[in-house]
Amino acid sequence: MYRKALIIIMAVIMTVVAAGCSQTAEHTGSQIDPSEPVKVLVSILPQADFVKSIGGEQVEVNVLIPPGANPENYEMSPRQIQEVSQADVYFTIGSIPFEQISLERIRSANPDMPVIDTAEDREYAEGEEAHHHDPHVWLSPVLVKEQARIICTGLSEIDPAHKEMYDKNLNTYIAELEKLDKDIKLLLADRKRDAFLVYHPAWGYFAEDYGLHEMAVEKEGKEPTAKEMAQIIAEAKQEGITAVIASPQHSTRSAETIAKQLQGEVKMIDPLPEDYIAGMREAAAVFKQVLSDQEE
Ligand SMILES: [Zn+2]
Repeated sequence: MYRKALIIIMAVIMTVVAAGCSQTAEHTGSQIDPSEPVKVLVSILPQADFVKSIGGEQVEVNVLIPPGANPENYEMSPRQIQEVSQADVYFTIGSIPFEQISLERIRSANPDMPVIDTAEDREYAEGEEAHHHDPHVWLSPVLVKEQARIICTGLSEIDPAHKEMYDKNLNTYIAELEKLDKDIKLLLADRKRDAFLVYHPAWGYFAEDYGLHEMAVEKEGKEPTAKEMAQIIAEAKQEGITAVIASPQHSTRSAETIAKQLQGEVKMIDPLPEDYIAGMREAAAVFKQVLSDQEE
């Protein structure tokens, strides 16, 4: 009897731990008036979707890198600095060049604002250190679950009056991300090859999640030299690749040149979708075509 009761108590405790996000005393920014929405800054569009999915009506999100801008080199306008000074919290994505360039300006515009790195608790798998500096953590639905938890914790600390709602929304969003991950796995299970060729190497974590191999045209943020181009074309031919994946934030010129040489075409995928789950489903559908030589 005693044992049974103990098991039930343990089960209850475990359920409580599994649900919602934790609250740590780590970020000690000031709490806001619960009748006001939390003014949140994020760097990129998909993060705005993460924050809105968890914060609902209780958040007002400001994306620092506008749609279409290149996160590798975007610089904020004076108007944006003004907005930064009014914000309650800034959730960074970790190590995109924009953040490295702008963080000092952001901190001096709003010195009391907590800056929370949503990739901070990231654990690296064995042998993964090699691409430690790949900033594209949002393109893995698995990694986004962790980012969502950190956002939930951050919102709950600034606005504890709404913690219950944030927890509930977090659990719903995590379930959606798990469904997305499962669906992508299923969709890509049947394919002709693992390798794909992309202009800007944003899909490293995605490739890792789904057992793919990313080949990139851009080398360390630069257009390839003629010699590198020839090498990429030779490697792509060897892999049987014809399509080149490009994104709206980057020039498609060399992608087109290479696609012509491969007698294939350029396929567009947006790595910064406004609607994350829908955008990732669209991306996965294009990957499926590219990896199986399907027509649209
Ligand atoms: Zn990038």
